[in-house]
Amino acid sequence: MQRNISKDLFEKAQNFIPGGVNSPVRAFRSVGMEPPFIEKALGSKIVDVDGNEYIDFIGSWGPMILGHANKDVIEAVSQALQKGTSYGAPTAREVELAELICDCVPSIDMLRLVNSGTEAVMSAIRLARGYTKRDKIIKFEGCYHGHSDGLLVKAGSGLLTTGVADSSGVPEGFAKNTICAQYNDINSVLEAFNQHKGEIATIIVEPVAANMGVVPQKDGFLKGLREACDREGALLIFDEVITGFRLQIDGAQGLYGIKPDLSVYGKIIGGGLPIGAYGGRREIMKMISPLGPVYQAGTLSGNPLVTAAGYCTIKTLKDHPEIYERINENGRKIEEGLHVAAKENGMPIWINRVGSLLSVFFTNGEEVFDFHSAMKSDVNLFAKYFKKMFERGIYIAPSQFEAWFFSNAHSEEDITKTLREIKAVFLELA
Ligand code: PLP
Repeated sequence: MQRNISKDLFEKAQNFIPGGVNSPVRAFRSVGMEPPFIEKALGSKIVDVDGNEYIDFIGSWGPMILGHANKDVIEAVSQALQKGTSYGAPTAREVELAELICDCVPSIDMLRLVNSGTEAVMSAIRLARGYTKRDKIIKFEGCYHGHSDGLLVKAGSGLLTTGVADSSGVPEGFAKNTICAQYNDINSVLEAFNQHKGEIATIIVEPVAANMGVVPQKDGFLKGLREACDREGALLIFDEVITGFRLQIDGAQGLYGIKPDLSVYGKIIGGGLPIGAYGGRREIMKMISPLGPVYQAGTLSGNPLVTAAGYCTIKTLKDHPEIYERINENGRKIEEGLHVAAKENGMPIWINRVGSLLSVFFTNGEEVFDFHSAMKSDVNLFAKYFKKMFERGIYIAPSQFEAWFFSNAHSEEDITKTLREIKAVFLELA
């Protein structure tokens, strides 16, 4: 595979954009490679500027659940485009999108549209603090909720001390209100509540963690969070930026039957254009400006192109529940193919999969159930596996700690080819 044009572009990009990219993972650093620059994408395929075609299992990190350049989405956006690109004033489409999301997700009575998952999480946390009149929040080590100050926090050295900043530029004052607990360890949560009685506004959690690789809940963990919040008067926020409208139409909360107080969305609900949203119980949502004292605003929020793409995407998913069967089945086939290939070549791996989200961990077969078990992965072996997959035209996330994303555009032929390449790659790795 030639990648000369990408190489030149990357060199030039680094003069003008830090690291040459507008989001760090795109730089391919964790696999020691340089990124392809993308020319176009159609259906299940993505094509770089050198003309190389890949089967895409990143899907823009989740949004492209219907595949790239889906004709209905393109048509909806094209029609909207003819009428102007932004008004900064209310539109019918925003109301339709909000109503559709409220219809799909029973825990949501009202929602507010914003422009990214980061913004949605930041706003939901502010709302939870305004509602409970408390300052501290609990998050889980290994969960990612965007890059706002209070959430770029990792666990301190002592278990359950308050968090420490995970990025330069985050003031201590922000980090000290974030407590980092351990995923799938309800005791770490109960301990946090005990240590900070009456101070915790909210627990925010990815109901299926997907930013330390995919890690599902175990042993009624989410139910435990719900009960703890109810007992302590804290709000439970599900960050469904990845899981929302992916696992099923009502997301992880539908799958596990747990009702959060607030939910956060992004990715799929914009159909590939920039969006975020947070929503929940009416009584809580009524705290938001202009109804209540919690301020939040946005020049481009509810943008007409985005809401056209988002509405079309969600309506398609709602009207075609068979899409979920299809993408989940493709996830299952790839999971099986990975297991078989690894076993045939004596390479123990661990796979976590929930529906169409999947991660393969190179942990020598040890279970991954939280951040620390995920960190046991052999990232050098992952990098070798990634490189070989990429060279064979299979475009998966260039990091051990991300997911495979399946889309409705993956054909049987795509899955068969991918299974064939997986087999060949593991044979070479052994
Ligand atoms: N929450 C989760 C679970 C995410 O995976 C992400 C991004 O990947 C975000 C929040 C932040 O979303 P955005 O990148 O749109 O700001």
